[in-house]
Amino acid sequence: MRLVLLGPPGAGKGTQAARLVTRFGCVHISTGSTLREAIASDSPLGREVGGYVAAGKLVPDAIVLRIVVERLSRPGVEGRWLLDGFPRTVPQAEAFDELLTGRGEPLDAVLCLRASTEAVVERLGGRRTCARCGALYHVRLIPPRRDETCDRGGGGLLVRDDDRPEAVLRRLEVYEGETKPVVGYYGFPGRDLLRLVSSDGTPEEVGAEILAVLEGPGAKRP
Ligand code: AMP
Repeated sequence: MRLVLLGPPGAGKGTQAARLVTRFGCVHISTGSTLREAIASDSPLGREVGGYVAAGKLVPDAIVLRIVVERLSRPGVEGRWLLDGFPRTVPQAEAFDELLTGRGEPLDAVLCLRASTEAVVERLGGRRTCARCGALYHVRLIPPRRDETCDRGGGGLLVRDDDRPEAVLRRLEVYEGETKPVVGYYGFPGRDLLRLVSSDGTPEEVGAEILAVLEGPGAKRP
């Protein structure tokens, strides 16, 4: 499977991506996680992008494209991947199309999660991320077994800087202005790539709906 996962911040992309990579055995490539790791390790890339991410702004296209090229070329990926959070602008989508044509790796589907503003605000407000392994939780919707502690390795759970209210507002504006046109780009008649799924349900309900559109009758087989 070669999938792109789109949707506003808080739509549940990270949660559904984790389920999909288990199901389809593909490699999860999250540009957001890669950028956060670079920032946490204070690498030259991290120092270059830290200000954009903390403010909820998009990192320049050329930088994210470099990350995607590097991640797709890693050993073990072998043309089976799920991209989460990329492309986020039409120029990124155009450059990605060219890249995939060059690599001979056509996309199987672009999955777009749709969520109401109320659901997004609630999800981001309660989101917690494991400082050690990046696992995602929500204080009410996906609570850890022990307060503020990751179920997997016992890491502490943190609120992401860009989940604070000012950055959330900026990220929602950026989604409307820059990323929604990408949904239109893939929905162009004749491309037959775009699959829209409402993400207002529980993670299990949304996961079941995603599998239905990817694997159900009429779904395009990879
Ligand atoms: P995410 O974890 O996907 O919500 O991404 C967190 C932040 O990383 C975003 O708010 C941006 O600052 C940055 N980022 C992630 N992916 C991209 C991308 N494709 N283009 C530009 N910036 C990105």
